[in-house]
Amino acid sequence: METAAFGATADGGVRRLALGPEDKQVRDWLREQCEAVGCTVEVDTVGNMFARRRGRDDEALPIAIGSHLDTQPTGGKFDGILGVLAGLEVLRTLHAAGRATERPLMLVNWTNEEGARFAPAMLGSGVHAGVFDEAFADSRIDIDGVTFAEAIEAIGYRGTTPVGQIRFAAMFELHIEQGPVLERENAEIGIVTGVQAMRWYDLTISGRDAHAGSTPMDMRCDALSDAANIIVGTQAAARAFGGMATTGQLSIRSASRNVIPGHVELSLDLRHQSDGGLDRLESEVSDLIRKQCGDRAELQTIWNSPAVHFDPQCIDAVREAALKSAAVTREIVSGAGHDSVYVSRLAPTAMIFIPCRGGLSHNPAESATKQHCAIGAQVLLDAALAMSSVK
Ligand SMILES: [Zn+2]
Repeated sequence: METAAFGATADGGVRRLALGPEDKQVRDWLREQCEAVGCTVEVDTVGNMFARRRGRDDEALPIAIGSHLDTQPTGGKFDGILGVLAGLEVLRTLHAAGRATERPLMLVNWTNEEGARFAPAMLGSGVHAGVFDEAFADSRIDIDGVTFAEAIEAIGYRGTTPVGQIRFAAMFELHIEQGPVLERENAEIGIVTGVQAMRWYDLTISGRDAHAGSTPMDMRCDALSDAANIIVGTQAAARAFGGMATTGQLSIRSASRNVIPGHVELSLDLRHQSDGGLDRLESEVSDLIRKQCGDRAELQTIWNSPAVHFDPQCIDAVREAALKSAAVTREIVSGAGHDSVYVSRLAPTAMIFIPCRGGLSHNPAESATKQHCAIGAQVLLDAALAMSSVK
């Protein structure tokens, strides 16, 4: 609740866009809190923050815990920051108990996870993992024409640590589920085994513009009618294949009430827990489009993110930690992308989910109970402690 004041909105939500003045406030706050428990804070050249707590074997690679502090424009109090504050709580708890860990611990705040101000999402962790280069990050432009490079200089968070230089032995990220599954099943902890495969497409359908009154129904080439059948068919296929299909954008070129639509463009978002499942769904959807439109439709893939499978040992550490807390658990595959997707390319990684009210996220009403937050933080602590002792 204290950090939700940084960017608080009248409707109870938070608007804390990456590298804006509110992001600077919460970053300054975090640095202070970490230093107060004896950590040293480093910032890399894309603004990722690393608070390091010494280990008994201080030369060993650290165990990382953390998430992100930025929000969507109409964000809530929990997305991202829960994982950072729970990490801070881990540091405070160990500090208060005078407990040393074998490996160092490192609390991380990744820059611009949301991609709301600077697209794409997961930019800081992506540069860290070598998915994007630094020049690409610097060149991103927000809606007002401000570049990432200008924004990071403006808040003084261009650090000096070369991006990607800091490596981890393992990483754990606690996050709200952002979906309704845990709540529906009364589970307290989601043991996240991976992130589902996602593909984005643009679909263009050409028909024939014609008069709505004088063209008989059986002599039309209606692109919107084709689109409607494809949307319904695609969603049926997704249900049959155990995947997900969403059309969130649709536009009719020169739309008019009494003209049969001759040209329609729509987006298609397909997801599945496995790459093979997504391949099958995609081929089913392609067949469907061909049957409906023949060669009048063009399906173009614009983004492809393969399924991520988290590290078995890290997943086990989460499972053991949840058992220790006697938490009701459920294995779950994340439907959304997270910084852990990119981090998992470099280091063994796993995630911990807790339920959020009504499954709501990216919404001012986003909420999670104190009890769930506490169990989540406890599981984060115990999982990190377990991995800290692994040679
Ligand atoms: Zn998030």
